[in-house]
Parts: sequence; structure tokens; C-alpha cells
Amino acid sequence: MTTTRARPARLALEGGAPQRNGLLPYGRQHVDEADIAAVAAALRSDWLTTGPRVPAFERAFADYVGADHAIAVANGTAALHVMLAALGVGPGDEVLVPAMTFAASANAVLYCRAKPVFVDVEADTLLIDARDAARKLSPRTKALLAVDYAGQPCDYDTLTPLCHGAGVELVADACHALGARWNGRPVGTLARASSFSLHAVKHLTTGEGGMISTHDAELAARMRRLRNHGIDSDHRQREQAGTWRYGMQELGWNYRLTDLACALGSSQLARATRRLQRRRQLAGFYRRRLQRLPGVRALALQPDVSHAWHLFVVELELERLRVGRDQVFAALRAEGIGVQVHYLPVHLHPYYQREHGLAAGLCPVAERAHERLLSLPLFPEMADADARDVVRALAKVLAHYQR
Ligand SMILES: *Cc1c(COP(=O)(O)O)cnc(C)c1O
Repeated sequence: MTTTRARPARLALEGGAPQRNGLLPYGRQHVDEADIAAVAAALRSDWLTTGPRVPAFERAFADYVGADHAIAVANGTAALHVMLAALGVGPGDEVLVPAMTFAASANAVLYCRAKPVFVDVEADTLLIDARDAARKLSPRTKALLAVDYAGQPCDYDTLTPLCHGAGVELVADACHALGARWNGRPVGTLARASSFSLHAVKHLTTGEGGMISTHDAELAARMRRLRNHGIDSDHRQREQAGTWRYGMQELGWNYRLTDLACALGSSQLARATRRLQRRRQLAGFYRRRLQRLPGVRALALQPDVSHAWHLFVVELELERLRVGRDQVFAALRAEGIGVQVHYLPVHLHPYYQREHGLAAGLCPVAERAHERLLSLPLFPEMADADARDVVRALAKVLAHYQR
């Protein structure tokens, strides 16, 4: 033997030393002392729910996204449900939904007793494919739900005229995209109404929570009513008017968000811009470093977008690897890197296959991408050294499994 070759370090999965001890999660909430003080003040106040902190948070949120109105609700799924219901989505209607999203996007359509019609995604961005959406329009199509996957706005310049021409409502599931922009215009103003989630892993959190933004005053009023059983006034409004009288105008739900949650939300919102900048910085670091790593590539960015980077999603180039995604996932986890998979295409969930007769083959681009996807850890409080660990662990694992 005359030659020696540098051997890749032994994988933690095979007994080697892990890149880091403990698991770096893919996302993590941030709560500071100001947040805690704001919630404590709400607890000491006269209002735990339907008090003044709800409209204050709604106003601040509407200003942040540049919309005229914001409506706070119990969670992001309730936001989707109320938004679709307020637009009149009901039995017999179809709603176009991309296959590559969280199940809640389609479930909300079913809550309205309408039918989600799954649309494939673009191979490079995993955003809804407008041509496939056009093919799947029918006389029953009532709305198209654009999902700003990973935090990148969809191509609203194409979707808007498509929906307008077909007489279809364009609404946004912007749960990933708070703070993003399309051609300079903020997410939250790009569709008739846009839904956000305030769940713990999202950009800002109230534990559980949701928000809807819109420019449409009439729609906003209906959404406020629907989140409160369909009743036309809330408790505080009646107190102020000195009356007990109220009328339930239509069947709604109790989807209210508490004053405790809104106190937390307002406090968190004050840091949202700074935290978004840090997400962008970390994503920029990943993108530069991944260019030099064979076996993996970042999703494409459209021109003229400002991305909100809820997720940093990569696609494995399986042709260059000896193993599948699940093996890479397990190896990275063993290295202490908390990767995730977003998402199983919705039509492949057991419920949708069993109860709605859907099967693989319906949205081939989303299905192929799903086999290759990994979300890397990304949250604003991550240190530069954490991001370097992620890249090093990825390099180690990919080198090991290189064909
Ligand atoms: C988080 C999320 C939801 C649901 O939000 P919840 O607040 O968890 O109900 C819906 N759609 C997408 C794309 C999401 O990421």
C-alpha cells in the first residue's frame, strides 16, 4: 500500500463522535422578560379575554403587514376556516390547494364542507404551479389558497389575473411568510385575505394563535362575527353601550384569542423586524455554503422576493447518494442536528387516501420532492457556530453516503 486517502470522519450513527451534543432543534420560540411582564400585566388587569389588548394587537399587526384590518383568532387553522367561511365557501364548492403544505390548509376547506382540489407545485420553489391550477379550475371552483411555502411568497403576478379572470377568490395561507414581500408589497396585502399562525414555531408566537389580514372592511366585520359564534357584538362592546342585548346573526364558532395571548403577541411584534433580519442572515450563510456541497441544493428564489425564511428547506440529490432521505435524516439527527421534513403531500395522508380516495400520482412534482426534502435548523437565536455545525454535519454525512 503506497497511497493513503483521507477518510471521512466516522458517522455518529455508526459510533463516531457526533458533531454536537444534544439536539439543535429546527425551530424554537423566543420569550423575553418584556414578554413575561406584558402577560403579567394582562393577568392583573380586568380583562383576560375580549378586552382592550385584542384590538391593540390587531392594530399593531395590521400596521406591520400594511393591511387595513387584522382579526385575531385562536390559531392559524381557525384563521383559515374563518377566512374561507366568510368568503362563502360551502357545500358543492371546490378550493384549489397546493399539495405541498401542512394538512390544516386543506382541512379548513373540509370544515366548510367544500372540496380541496390538490394542485402540484413548481419543482424548483415548491410553490403552487399556476399552470396546474389553471388546468384544475372548474365551474365549482370558489377560491385558490396560495401557500407561501417556507416563507417565500407565491407568484402573485400570475395568480392574481388567473383568479380574477376565472371569478375565483385568491386567498393566502401566509402562515410561513410573516414579513415577506413580493415586488416590494408585503405578504398580508397580496390576496383578498391572508391567514397567519402564531404557533410556537412560527415567526412570532402567542403559544397558540392566529391572525387574518385584509383590506376589505365588510369581510373583516364578518370574520370578527364568525370568530365570536356569529354574534354581532362582544362582551366589552355591550358593557360600553350599557346593554345586554346581542343577536346571533349566523352560525360561527368560539375562535377568540385571549388578552393574555394578545399581550404576548404585541410584545413579540416589537422584535419581529430584528428577528426576521437574523433569519435572513442565517439563510444567506446556508445558501453560500450549500453551493459547495455536492448532493444537496437549496430551493430556488424567485426574483424580486423578500423571503421570510420560516423554514430553510433543502432537496437531496439522491442520484449522487447511496441512501435515501430517511437515512440522511437519521444520520443528521445522530450528529445532533434536528432536521425535519415539511411536508408529506396532503393527499398522501392516510385520511385523505382512505376517505377521499386520493393516491400517489396526483401531484408528481410534490411527491418526488417530498422524498428528497429536509428542513435545516433555522431560528433567530441560533449562533453562527450552530449554523456552522449544521453545514459541517451535512458535509460529513453527504461525504459518507456519496456514490
Ligand atoms: C402552522 C401552519 C398552519 C396552522 O397553524 P396553527 O396555528 O398550528 O393552527 C396552517 N398552514 C400552514 C402552512 C402552517 O405552517
